[in-house]
Amino acid sequence: MKCDYCEIVEQKTNASILYEDSDTLIVVKDMVLTPGQITVIPKQHFTIVEMIPPKLLQKCSLLANKVSIASFDTLGIQGTNIIIQNGLAGGQKVPHVALEIIPRKENDTLPLQWQPKPLSEVDLETTFTALQDELKREHKQQPATPEENSQLQQPSSESTSQPSSKPKESPAPDSYLLKSLKRLP
Ligand SMILES: [Zn+2]
Repeated sequence: MKCDYCEIVEQKTNASILYEDSDTLIVVKDMVLTPGQITVIPKQHFTIVEMIPPKLLQKCSLLANKVSIASFDTLGIQGTNIIIQNGLAGGQKVPHVALEIIPRKENDTLPLQWQPKPLSEVDLETTFTALQDELKREHKQQPATPEENSQLQQPSSESTSQPSSKPKESPAPDSYLLKSLKRLP
């Protein structure tokens, strides 16, 4: 079956290739939402993001971040959206995972905004609890690497008034999502 992104990988289209290595491609497609939109594509055909091996997903994410940084530096933009349309209901048109980096300016009227609305208690109960249980289960199966652990446990450099014998509380059973959020600056 013909896949538009495999065709790009095989260089059978007019997409302009910005960067290429053994397993990824960064391209400007011939159909874009706005000028400056860049696409990171794993060369191997993976339909949805869950199928990408973790290391390759990590690499694609880092490349998307580099593209985003380069876009800020060169296009005079004020923001980016980094998007994976995952599955039909997620707006995915081509059955091959890709990361889209879309440059944004204030009031650019791109249809990528949504209005949050209050979450009902029932929704919170059903979505949050189910996801939390699943993420805890997943996290137990994939413990953090020593490097990640040391990042999480780094003491604050400003806590000089504290005696060196800090109380060793056992860490709260945070979910994977909460731990990820703590790493944000
Ligand atoms: Zn493909």
